[in-house]
Amino acid sequence: MAAQSSAPEVSSGVLAARIARVREAMGQQGIEVVLLSVGADLPYLTGYTAMPLERLTMLVLPQQGDAVMVVPRLEAPRVTEHPGVFSLRPWNETEDPVAIVAELMGRPSLAAIGDRTWAQFLVELQRLRSSTRFERSNVVVGPVRMRKDQAEIDALRRASSAADRVARELHAGHIPLAGRTEAQVSADISARLIAEGHDKVNFAIVATGPNAASPHHEPGPRLIEDGDVVLCDFGGTMAGYCSDITRCVSLGEPSNQVAEAYAVLRAAQAAGVRSAVVGTSCEAVDAAARDVIVEAGYGEYFFHRTGHGIGLEEHEDPYIVSGNHRLLEAGHAFSIEPGIYLPGQFGMRLEDIVVATDAGPEALNHVDHSLVVIG
Ligand code: ZN
Ligand code: ZN
Ligand code: ZN
Repeated sequence: MAAQSSAPEVSSGVLAARIARVREAMGQQGIEVVLLSVGADLPYLTGYTAMPLERLTMLVLPQQGDAVMVVPRLEAPRVTEHPGVFSLRPWNETEDPVAIVAELMGRPSLAAIGDRTWAQFLVELQRLRSSTRFERSNVVVGPVRMRKDQAEIDALRRASSAADRVARELHAGHIPLAGRTEAQVSADISARLIAEGHDKVNFAIVATGPNAASPHHEPGPRLIEDGDVVLCDFGGTMAGYCSDITRCVSLGEPSNQVAEAYAVLRAAQAAGVRSAVVGTSCEAVDAAARDVIVEAGYGEYFFHRTGHGIGLEEHEDPYIVSGNHRLLEAGHAFSIEPGIYLPGQFGMRLEDIVVATDAGPEALNHVDHSLVVIG
């Protein structure tokens, strides 16, 4: 399975340092134990990606004391052991893994459980530990995961470069558009993402003409024709880290209306990137991009947040959205992707991945930002 081959290699020292930071956050918030199952928090802290199975895998991480990974015996051989970081408690088919977890976690008053954990396990745990209140693990792991270290930024940079190479092929006209369906172009882009080094494709949106007015349009049978704006938003996972880029091209010369809207979009996206300075709030970054679009009179046609964090997951904290007062820190990685969507006519979006650094915002995508005309 691709999800396994794409797990990043991380040393015991790095894992121990991450766990220490999570424990510090646990101490501050009075969370006595963190329980992690499927989802990105587990590989982030252990290097191990659990398969999404009905058999429970769960790391029991107490604020004090040793961390133990409860794992189905048949999965245990897949775990790379990191002695001193966590130990393994393989369980046999005749054992009850939830009871084992309950035993290991003790009777804390406050626990945090992984956001992606199957509800069945939480419900069973709540039955066994009725005096424990459960928080989301995101409150303690999220802020740590948000601050990417150099190795993670390098991994994001490599994934972004691979996505850039596909976008350049699009701009060069090497991905045929005229007379093909959105679905065909999407399949083409997906194959190229893999050829450029991704382990798996997460999405390859191809939305054309009026279809692009729906931001998450499912690529379908529509034939691409002259005069269409073709919106391509694609990304995958490479060595554990995600790419995500959007570029639009015009098949034939764009109308004045399209060209005018695109100039606004491009200015908005650049303003968003420029504003992404350490210490700026996420909502101020959203506003920097949005204000340009509002002032040009397209405000009602930009109805989603400006961006999302990216890392082990394609969408994670921090979200670049109004109401998010979180201040950007060095190592935060996120998309800046405003869009303009005119119902029944056209849609356009422009997206780069950006890292906040002490030297200012660093865009990881470097492909031409203009509306490139094909054919
Ligand atoms: Zn999206
Ligand atoms: Zn995207
Ligand atoms: Zn995105």
